[in-house]
Amino acid sequence: MLLNLHTHLLKKQADEQIIFNEIIPDSEEGLENFEIQNTESWLSAGIHPWYINEKLYNLQLKKLAGIAKDPAIKFIGECGLDRLKGAPLPLQEEIFIKQIRIAEDLKKPVIIHCVRCYNELISIKKIVRPRVPFVVHGFNTKIEIARQLLDKGFYLSLGGALLNEESNALKVLQEIPLERLFLETDDKDISIIDIYQKAVEVKDLSMEELEKVVFDNYLGLNV
Ligand SMILES: [Zn+2]
Repeated sequence: MLLNLHTHLLKKQADEQIIFNEIIPDSEEGLENFEIQNTESWLSAGIHPWYINEKLYNLQLKKLAGIAKDPAIKFIGECGLDRLKGAPLPLQEEIFIKQIRIAEDLKKPVIIHCVRCYNELISIKKIVRPRVPFVVHGFNTKIEIARQLLDKGFYLSLGGALLNEESNALKVLQEIPLERLFLETDDKDISIIDIYQKAVEVKDLSMEELEKVVFDNYLGLNV
């Protein structure tokens, strides 16, 4: 079974275990009506930095804290920081830290969206000193940043960018220790098999070995 660490699409394209992402809504009406669906699937739930409502974020956090206890929810997130889009960065940082606290209370790992805020991400981890693991998803940035994150104990989840021969993600795949690797499709309508296949080639493993490595990494997060 292929673990797909992060997807926004419910349709399965393979024998895969997906972790379907639920975004906490940013409107009053959305929040009132929000319930987790698909509890037969594995889920992550969080307040995405693009969808922080500057007036309603306390309600958003309350909603998240309420549902996050559900055993179907394996990760808190995606949450994090985005320099290019969403709420002002100081507010993003505050909401991110509050979500880390929820994750700490529940002992669930955090799945992170990060765009051009890696210094901030690393300093938040240093200040908060979480016991729960941090996984940066959809990583496709320079190898130097990957090295820093790996050095600080982060896991990296790589996705569709691996199918581009010129991508940073592919360079990261060549270097990342197997025990820090996850794979995902995110919001792209691509097959997780193709992503695993790329990793099989680069890491020189059999598909069965890779499946086991990634699944063991997940089990090692103590979720
Ligand atoms: Zn996503």
